[in-house]
Amino acid sequence: MYDDNNIFAKILRGDIPCKKIYEDAHALAFHDISPQAPVHVLVIPKDKAISFSDFSTLGAGKVGNFFAAVGQVVKELKLEEGGYRLIANTGMNGGQEVPHFHVHILAGKRLGRMVAQQ
Ligand code: AMP
Repeated sequence: MYDDNNIFAKILRGDIPCKKIYEDAHALAFHDISPQAPVHVLVIPKDKAISFSDFSTLGAGKVGNFFAAVGQVVKELKLEEGGYRLIANTGMNGGQEVPHFHVHILAGKRLGRMVAQQ
């Protein structure tokens, strides 16, 4: 069940502020409040979806529009040349904290191993 009171739902409603980078009819991108790299941006769809698989059930058009927005942010921030990483944490094992589907864009330094070795 989607929780309308999750923090990204509140940001989408304008109930709490964000440092906006990009917005269109389908998606909103803003700086992560606790950056893990010199560039750490979150892109969220405007639809109510918890996970990527949830979101994908809304159809190819929505998915396409969302990832077009991700690509637009990458372009606007000029991340192509240096490279970047997209992450979508999902559920408990994925370490998802906010239950609204989102993609992290990380860049600005060598990001190291894809998965922490413990
Ligand atoms: P995840 O673990 O993939 O669910 O990531 C959630 C991300 O949201 C974390 O990187 C948090 O730092 C970030 N975050 C939480 N609250 C806010 C907020 N109010 N504005 C911007 N980013 C936030």
